[in-house]
Amino acid sequence: NNLLEKRCLHQDGSSIWTEISVAPVRDSAGVLQHFVAQVQDVTKERNAHLALQDSETRFRGLFELSPIGICLNDFETGSFLAVNEALATATGYAREDLLRLSYWELTPKEYQPQEQLQLESLKSIGRYGPYFKEYIRKDGIRYPVRLHGMLMRDHGGRQVIWSLIEDITESQRIERMKTEFVSTVSHELRTPLTSISGALSLIVGGVLGEVPAEMKEMLEIAASSSQRLGSLVDDLLDLNKLLYAKLQIHLENIDLFTLLEEIVAGMAGYADLYEVGISRTGDQKVEIVADPSRFSQVVTNLLSNACKHSMPGQVVELRHEASANGFVVVSVIDQGTGIPNEFRSRVFHRFAQADSSDSRAEGGTGLGLAICKELVESMNGVIGYESEVGKGSHFWFRVPQVGGPRLLRSGPELHILHVEDDRDFSHVLSTQLEKRATVVNASTLSEANSLLRQGVFDLVLLDLGLPDGHGENLWETLHVTQPELPFIIVSGHEVPNVLACRVAAVVEKNGSTQKRILQLITSIFSQTENVP
Ligand code: ADP
Repeated sequence: NNLLEKRCLHQDGSSIWTEISVAPVRDSAGVLQHFVAQVQDVTKERNAHLALQDSETRFRGLFELSPIGICLNDFETGSFLAVNEALATATGYAREDLLRLSYWELTPKEYQPQEQLQLESLKSIGRYGPYFKEYIRKDGIRYPVRLHGMLMRDHGGRQVIWSLIEDITESQRIERMKTEFVSTVSHELRTPLTSISGALSLIVGGVLGEVPAEMKEMLEIAASSSQRLGSLVDDLLDLNKLLYAKLQIHLENIDLFTLLEEIVAGMAGYADLYEVGISRTGDQKVEIVADPSRFSQVVTNLLSNACKHSMPGQVVELRHEASANGFVVVSVIDQGTGIPNEFRSRVFHRFAQADSSDSRAEGGTGLGLAICKELVESMNGVIGYESEVGKGSHFWFRVPQVGGPRLLRSGPELHILHVEDDRDFSHVLSTQLEKRATVVNASTLSEANSLLRQGVFDLVLLDLGLPDGHGENLWETLHVTQPELPFIIVSGHEVPNVLACRVAAVVEKNGSTQKRILQLITSIFSQTENVP
């Protein structure tokens, strides 16, 4: 009963694959009479098999030759099921040794909480990353890696995680070199530049005698350009020092009202230049803990941005308010151009400037807000913003009041912000989480923003369809300065993929929503040992 596979020519001229089985037929005496052949067209199966083989070969090639580490882990136990050569080389282990290692022999234990978040992301959207952590090499030395991955099922139904693991030691080294280079060059530039700009101001100011009229305009341009160059160099140096923790911050108790008064007086000329007014609101008796000159630098920067992006005749509001938990929130609010949507996640990046045809905003360096963020954080604060195109921007930061931040919670329970316009749903959830968390409800984006400015939350549960806008806006502006604050999207609406990939979890609104949220909270905030 032989089976034969054969390529044949079909009647229509095409080539097909056939499977032919041949069986002998004998008479009653056992004498062979003839053969019966059964011919079956197996072209489809054969092509599918060849395609599978092709794809397997391609995948193997990618896996083996990829310069980026690739591994397959068991979702339940975390053990390695397959690793490629790139990962073995980077970790210093032989491939077979790597396969015998437990998960925590490669990942330092302190990454457990972040690992838990990645796990939640895998469970809810089937993907995780980009996720930055370290691996421990065979020689005990750690190296930085960036990971991405996805959850799949193998043919036996077992859940497995495919991960791409990039060794980023080199890119971090280059980044450091670049920063050091900028720092050295800036230092070398500063001294001669100070002399040039000092000499030019003396000449333009007429200290050295009357300047001939035909030279005056050119000298004024040279003087103001050298000053701009000087402030760019200062910004670069500040930022470098901040990034490498070399900038001295002297925290002291400050009378906030008086300091803001001085800052506004100092900004009057600048605001006049843009024909913008500055209004002040806020309690007179507030003391904060900050570095006075660095605090002034932040407020001045925010005010100058607000003036630059306002229309003539508009008013920029400088407001401060003490929050119940021991912070003071300082806000700079304008009614100007607003921040374009596509620029929102880069607002605090270095050298980032929105494309703008607005000539009033010319001349910046794109470093101001990056410096503000570093400065506020080094004064134990948080910075953030809200903005609507065409309506204006609200930049804010909070710093501790004298007496320090006070925790609103009475016990160890979590503090959760639930952004949800269905107050009944929020109430039910709050009751169900009673033992585990204090839930504060915000039914609009603006209420949520106001609570987030003042309060310190451990988690945000976010609905997307809100009366005053899409919930994504809240995440978009918040995650840039508070990336460690986990968001869980709880929504009956479709969740945009870009968003779903970047939050801790997505939960659909249905009968088991509350139960799922409770599970997620338990898993995010209890640092269990059995993390894959
Ligand atoms: P610079 O003002 O020197 O360009 P910043 O870091 O201070 O740099 O600001 C970065 C960018 O953010 C600006 O170029 C502008 O596009 C945008 N921006 C900052 N503040 C505002 C504001 N109040 N209104 C509109 N856009 C702003």
